[in-house]
Amino acid sequence: MNLKRRIFENIDLSLNHHSRIHTLCGYIPQTNRSPVFIKREDELNPTAIGTKHRKYISLLPSIRQANYTTVILIGSAYSNNLLGLTQHLLNEHIEVHLFVKRPGSHELTGNRLFLNMLLPQSNIHTISPNHWNEVVEQANEFAAQLQGANRQVLVVPEGGEHPATIPGLLTLAFDIQQNQQTYNIRFSDIWTDSGTGISAIGLLLGMRLLGMTEAHLHITLIAGNEAEFFERYRRFTTWTEQWLKAEIPEAGPRVTFHTPATARSFGSINKTVQRATITIARETGILMDPIYSVKHLYTMKQILQQHPPTGPQLFIYNGGPLGLCGFQQTLAKQLRTQKD
Ligand SMILES: *Cc1c(COP(=O)(O)O)cnc(C)c1O
Repeated sequence: MNLKRRIFENIDLSLNHHSRIHTLCGYIPQTNRSPVFIKREDELNPTAIGTKHRKYISLLPSIRQANYTTVILIGSAYSNNLLGLTQHLLNEHIEVHLFVKRPGSHELTGNRLFLNMLLPQSNIHTISPNHWNEVVEQANEFAAQLQGANRQVLVVPEGGEHPATIPGLLTLAFDIQQNQQTYNIRFSDIWTDSGTGISAIGLLLGMRLLGMTEAHLHITLIAGNEAEFFERYRRFTTWTEQWLKAEIPEAGPRVTFHTPATARSFGSINKTVQRATITIARETGILMDPIYSVKHLYTMKQILQQHPPTGPQLFIYNGGPLGLCGFQQTLAKQLRTQKD
């Protein structure tokens, strides 16, 4: 198929683009008619968080092709995206600068520790929260200063919002189709989570392109809101149509947005999330990151309790155990207060 060729000629085939699915053990009740599968995006790349990896598999080839020597990344000081991409870029002798929002604390934990291990302080530029809305301008100005005869500089906005991520993002819909074929099943519901929304947008565009209109797509808004999602959705739709030189079919899956069933504000971890992180580890054998994946799975469980499923379910596990690193002390304390 032409579409498939277009996508796969723009990705780095030496990087993973296939993840397995298996039935989820425990945590969510299942019946023969409505088994619950989990898609192991966490297994795509041990040095990055799953969903981010698909952005890199086409962004990296485009960076190589354009001969960028320096890349400026924008995001939070604890960003999964900054951590994953920085490692890949350093592997390829590309100079990396980060523009991060100044965090409230001085403690180096989780991804922030790892980013400070990977880069000297002079490459990590902190921006005060009051000026965060100007961060792209500031990064562009810095890029203009660095730019020279021997230096080609690229600025990648928060979440990897760049057209070059599109072919990689579209591989997810293909991969789900392949999972369905392997198990000879059709998912009636697919559950994914969203931060900037870019990964979920990629899935949605891929499903429209492939005519996967039967499944109901559920999106847990871990960060941001529907209005922000739709603004990016429009932008990515335009970029994708420009790249493909074709219109994307209107027909798509039914989409429902969900807010987290607990600890709604982004980054907050309450007792319910801490307990769920431990329960999920015990029942499913999976060490899940609390910020995104635990909230997402907890939310799916609450919704299915109220609306029992009528067909096979797919939970996309976009996270990974790296996301647990900042929460070791919190979880240790939680374990000490639990009786078992
Ligand atoms: C970053 C991240 C997301 C959100 O990805 P976006 O493309 O920004 O929406 C979801 N889940 C996990 C585990 C993530 O790290």
